[in-house]
Amino acid sequence: MTDLKALPTQKLYINGEWRDSEGGSLHPVINPATEETLCEVIQGSMEDVDDAVAAAKAAFKEWRHSRAAKRQALMHAIADGMEARKQDLVAAVSEALGCPAHIAEWLHVDGPIYSMRYYADRAALMEETEKAAHSVVMKDPVGVCGFITPWNYPLHQFVGKVAPALAAGCAMIQKPSEMTPLQDYVMAEIIDAAGVPAGVFNLVPGAGPIVGAALSSHVDIDMVSFTGSTRAGIEVAKSAAPTVKRVTQELGGKSPFIITPDADLEAAVRWGCEDVFINTGQTCTALTRMLVPAERYEEAVAIAKQVAEEVAIGTGENAFMGPLSSSRQREIVRGYIDKGIAEGARLVTGGSEAPEGLAQGFYVKPTVFADVNNDMAIAREEIFGPVTCMIPYKDMDEAIAIANDSEYGLSSGVWAKDAEAAMPVVRRLEAGLCFVNGGEFNYDAPFGGVKRSGNGREFGNAGLDEFIELKSVQLPA
Ligand code: NAD
Repeated sequence: MTDLKALPTQKLYINGEWRDSEGGSLHPVINPATEETLCEVIQGSMEDVDDAVAAAKAAFKEWRHSRAAKRQALMHAIADGMEARKQDLVAAVSEALGCPAHIAEWLHVDGPIYSMRYYADRAALMEETEKAAHSVVMKDPVGVCGFITPWNYPLHQFVGKVAPALAAGCAMIQKPSEMTPLQDYVMAEIIDAAGVPAGVFNLVPGAGPIVGAALSSHVDIDMVSFTGSTRAGIEVAKSAAPTVKRVTQELGGKSPFIITPDADLEAAVRWGCEDVFINTGQTCTALTRMLVPAERYEEAVAIAKQVAEEVAIGTGENAFMGPLSSSRQREIVRGYIDKGIAEGARLVTGGSEAPEGLAQGFYVKPTVFADVNNDMAIAREEIFGPVTCMIPYKDMDEAIAIANDSEYGLSSGVWAKDAEAAMPVVRRLEAGLCFVNGGEFNYDAPFGGVKRSGNGREFGNAGLDEFIELKSVQLPA
């Protein structure tokens, strides 16, 4: 077992060295399965942010002109380090988040390693130019970046920002969530060992309203990339506005999943429920509103009940679903379950009491609500727990109207007879992503939302574009 206590969590990584904070305090990281303190992590101060930004600004001067081949090699060295320390990354995510380790390996770690190599091999795109009549369009890195990430997929969000930024030639300051900063420490050690120049990558953990706000408003930061709640994302954009920096926001969701009348109901309902229960429902793209043809509704509810009741809860080798990430998150989820019952939804299975035999740890039961009306709070607000809402529909026009009746537009899903039959439905959905007939997440494709789910894209070539400034060079005609 990896000793997470050996990580330098009481230090900050600034300008290529592990430093003490100027005035920061310590914050415990809790294992949500045992409720024990894993370690204490420094919460940086505004002075620390100033130091990190100064280091990044100084490093950017040379780094921005580094050869793409050099950045590519460094990033492959980082990916090699991630492979070598894979079990450290798994332990860091699994123990602070509560995701069973065997699931954390493929759900939280394999994809980010792939993504680091993907962007390594795209650094060369920065040196490509485009002709536009008598002009040549060049690419410059956007500059010094501030990154703010949440706790639910902490390594994905780290790599979704840091990897394209390194490929583009940007310098950066990363602030993880207070609850799950440990994989960022492993990554800082890997980045340091790979030989990334001092100041290019800096790690300043800390509180959102202090370190996050300081990054958002800092005059020497050119771009802030935020992933988290819509509430905090709005605060970030407001703080960023006076300095006219670029802002990207990856925010919340309340995503619909339409099962068409001719779909394989058993396969569709099973996949839809597991999509909500994995990571204990703490997935921004979770398809939490399952829309089912009225004539097959009770059949679908029975399948969902069975799937929920089969879920193995715990953190062991056979477990599918761990605890929620914190006692606060458990209170929020229990509150929504009680609210759903009070609003008149039918509790098919689950509920707000602890699962049997799991009094310790922030566990909740996989919960299925039927007879949900799209106006209920459980259908409109992001619960961020293992709670699925089943809504009947009469015809496809009504299904699409319900699906799009949300302030969010991050993800969506359709299960039809086959992928081709799903496409006309996909076209009509207001969302940045759509999963068809159980299609898998793809790191080569852009990821992001519409409406209040955000601005901008991560992953794929579009994820690199976010870190590029275009320079049009007007040549004599
Ligand atoms: P959160 O908004 O509370 O925190 C996210 C990050 O923002 C943390 O690092 C936090 O410290 C920081 N923060 C909080 N207040 C801030 C402020 N005023 N200024 C600057 N930074 C601030 O969110 P969370 O609870 O950590 O994460 C869950 C949320 O993230 C959910 O809404 C989920 O849907 C969303 N999310 C979205 C995506 C996506 O890509 N669209 C991915 C994962 C999670």
